[in-house]
Amino acid sequence: MPLRYALFSQRSLMLALLLLLGCGFLATSLLSYFASRSEIRDNIINTELPLTSDTVYSEIQRDLVRPVVIASMMAQNTFLRDWALAGEQDPMPITRYLNEVMAHQNAYTAFFVSEASGIYYQAKGVLKHVDPRTERDRWYARVKAMDTPYEINVDLDMANQDKPTVFINYKVFDYQGRFIGAAGVGLTVEAVIRRLSDYQLRYQRTVYFVDASGRIVLTGSAGGPEGVHSGLTLREVPALADLQQKMPVPVEGNREYNHDGHSHFLNVRLIPELDWYLFVDKRDGTALDSARQSLYMNLVICAMITLVVLSLLNAMIRRHQDNIQTLATIDSLTGLPNRRAFDLLAAQALLDTEREPMPLVALLLDLDHFKVLNDTHGHLAGDEVLRQFARILESCLRHTDIICRWGGEEFLVLLKNTDADAARAVAEKIRLRTEQLAFGYADKVLDLTVSIGLSAHRSDDTLHTLIARADDALYRAKQGGRNRVCSEL
Ligand code: GH3
Ligand code: MG
Ligand code: MG
Repeated sequence: MPLRYALFSQRSLMLALLLLLGCGFLATSLLSYFASRSEIRDNIINTELPLTSDTVYSEIQRDLVRPVVIASMMAQNTFLRDWALAGEQDPMPITRYLNEVMAHQNAYTAFFVSEASGIYYQAKGVLKHVDPRTERDRWYARVKAMDTPYEINVDLDMANQDKPTVFINYKVFDYQGRFIGAAGVGLTVEAVIRRLSDYQLRYQRTVYFVDASGRIVLTGSAGGPEGVHSGLTLREVPALADLQQKMPVPVEGNREYNHDGHSHFLNVRLIPELDWYLFVDKRDGTALDSARQSLYMNLVICAMITLVVLSLLNAMIRRHQDNIQTLATIDSLTGLPNRRAFDLLAAQALLDTEREPMPLVALLLDLDHFKVLNDTHGHLAGDEVLRQFARILESCLRHTDIICRWGGEEFLVLLKNTDADAARAVAEKIRLRTEQLAFGYADKVLDLTVSIGLSAHRSDDTLHTLIARADDALYRAKQGGRNRVCSEL
């Protein structure tokens, strides 16, 4: 195969492998990234958020629903109604009643506002006269006008240093169903707010309440996500613009929305006792980040594996090519360079001689009566003799000399920087050693002789003419009776 073609095909093989490994690794890394991403998403939406919602819901039920029951009992209490209908003579009994409710039901405050007198009674006595025209007392007009029997309102409690308080305001009717005032309890939302804050910190998600109209009624102490605060409506929070489009008013279920390049997962659940919606919001954070990080790690590892595989393969191909090249230039029987290698080496030697004139001599060697040896002792014996003769040749020559198996039982040697006399001596040495050595094969001792033709390089010589003259000399050596060295004429 031509070298250029080999290089090209090696490069395209590497490129194809790089593409194959790269695409394969990229595909598997991306697949596993998206799989773990959707698993994390599913887990957040279907497990984490509903679980938080359940826990908050059960706590809220404990904290907020019980007071609704207490307020309802107060509104139906016959003592309270009788006392009011009897003209609110003495504030003591009602004060004691409210005090009892507060102490035994664990409320933060208990109250009754009389429609007839406008007096606001609470556990410590008369608090004030209610004036529904003022901002503070507007709640009373609202309660009086509402269709439902009660409302839950987060407000500041004047009786308790204006602390944020959840009021359960129940309408009180006389026995004929006429409105005679409002009774109820208030409980500080500090505990609820603290619990919401606690959830936010512990589970890295924000929890807040929104009423049916979209007004935010309660958040943790630090507010909700991205500027959500009690008193605002969802529409007024810029961070929730995307959510607003998908859900203009609170609806139960799972939602996903975006803000600032981040996905938010939201679970909305109605708390029917309060008619509030519980929002549990989680920003795609650490879990997805770590999935992304492991994607990057995967890609780096894959790139390293690809590099290692490609460089190993490259090294293997190179070694393989070297082996092939060696096999192509070495004669497998004798281990000597073959004719192809000789052509390259000899061409270089001739160039060197022309550039810097120095003597160069060719020896052409042919084993005598080799056919007879083969016929008598077999081909394997002949092969063994060829191998042993190659070792004799090597032992008589220098490393710088060029030697090759020319074909069959013929060998060719180029003696560099050697004049004809010295070359003749080398040839004679080879001949003598061959004659004297006992060649061995399977306990047999075989005799061998060699005929050698010698030619010295001339300035106008090509490799072909140089060898042709050595061949002539060899012919004469054979004619002359073999086992001899003949020089060109
Ligand atoms: P001469 O003295 O004139 O050179 O006689 P020869 O028998 O050596 O010459 P000839 O050219 O007639 O025969 C050469 C023989 O060498 C014939 C061939 O079978 C044998 N030969 C060539 N290559 C190999 C080889 O690789 N192994 C063996 N065992 N024999 C080989
Ligand atoms: Mg021959
Ligand atoms: Mg021969």
